Amino acid sequence: MLRDEDRIFQNLYNDSGIDIESSKKRGDWLNSKEIISKGKDWIINEIKSSELRGRGGAGFPTGLKWSFAPKEVGSRPHYLVINADESEPGTCKDRDLLRFEPHKLIEGCLIASYAISAHICYIYIRGEYINEGKILQNAINEAYENKLLGKNASDTGWDLDIYIHYGAGAYICGEETALLESIEGKKGQPRLKPPFPALVGLYGCPTIVNNVETIAVVPTILKKGSKWFSSIGRPKNTGTKIFCISGNVNNPCNVEEEMGIPLKELIEKHAGGVVGGWDNLKAVIPGGSSMPLLPKKICETIKMDFDSLVEEKSGLGTAGIVVINKDQDIIKCMARIAKFYKHESCGQCTPCREGTGWMWRMLERMSIGEASREEVEMLMDVTKQIEGHTICAFGEGAAWPVQGLLRHFKKEIIKKNNFNPLIKTNKKIPYLVDQHLLEK
Ligand code: SF4
Repeated sequence: MLRDEDRIFQNLYNDSGIDIESSKKRGDWLNSKEIISKGKDWIINEIKSSELRGRGGAGFPTGLKWSFAPKEVGSRPHYLVINADESEPGTCKDRDLLRFEPHKLIEGCLIASYAISAHICYIYIRGEYINEGKILQNAINEAYENKLLGKNASDTGWDLDIYIHYGAGAYICGEETALLESIEGKKGQPRLKPPFPALVGLYGCPTIVNNVETIAVVPTILKKGSKWFSSIGRPKNTGTKIFCISGNVNNPCNVEEEMGIPLKELIEKHAGGVVGGWDNLKAVIPGGSSMPLLPKKICETIKMDFDSLVEEKSGLGTAGIVVINKDQDIIKCMARIAKFYKHESCGQCTPCREGTGWMWRMLERMSIGEASREEVEMLMDVTKQIEGHTICAFGEGAAWPVQGLLRHFKKEIIKKNNFNPLIKTNKKIPYLVDQHLLEK
């Protein structure tokens, strides 16, 4: 369990104030000048040796990402863009950082901008976070008033301006290139990669896109040292992480804990346990709705870090933990998630645009016991037709939860739909036809 002195976010529950003076008392802005005076290479190397991995879902090494930005600024300016478009169902950690620890984020923006040679930073916030955006804007204003931002920010000799940009509620704008399109005033649709944003990003200029939590932990890592950060957790899965625990638990919460903490400990100690007791647990979605669910047997021992979850064919994602107990219909739950992805597909790629609808319709039929036996295999087939065949990772995010359901709860689907498990196919149905639409 994480020691109190190792907690990076001391104000996660807003116990000690969000204004600049309260933030300074917690250590924010104290030696940003000293850190920046050590130079870009030192900062990037420290972040590399801390083994910090992005906290937005993909888990890409942060220091390595920063090192992709060109060393010298050419004719095109560099940009830092903060992804605060937190839209993954089950995830609400960035929200608490924006409203309770805004100065950690802003200080992190200054250091990261310096490291990648950016004089302009955009913070892209989902439109629904209007109140959090106002709090962040107040904090940015405080930072300007105290000369921590703007010309010669924090007396470092580096100029930095930060702008907030509000999204309009599309999940796909959390994908980094769709986010850039959206800032540019276009439809939020992902770009083909390569080129990657580090070379051709916002307005065609070198751009580094990082998640809120990733940037907010940077100042503390540099103040306490990369060795301190990498001593928490385990190699390649270092540091602390904010876990969001929701669903059928007695005390839904956000909590900062050590990377690699057992899932059971998180649920039992921090979230007050599963509603109805641990034995009433059915499954857990460990990293936001796009990560495959895990059945109770795996939840008994699984550790919450990037690599442990990949070994179990799931992922840490955003660390949005959704607990599902036996009172729920697991097929209905996954049909609901499939509907979400069908709704949020941007529509550029045929496998995603059409496949998300197929998956949703099949799951709806399965949830009411009206699917045919052959649809079970067909559903898996559709997920495989989407996975790896799309422009962006949304395709995998939509397919993986369905694969998780089929991997662990196939028997329930068979039982609910009254199939004879010995017969592979008991009737043929035209799976291209949307039966719900026909009924209407
Ligand atoms: Fe759009 Fe889906 Fe293709 Fe991503 S995978 S670009 S969301 S259609």
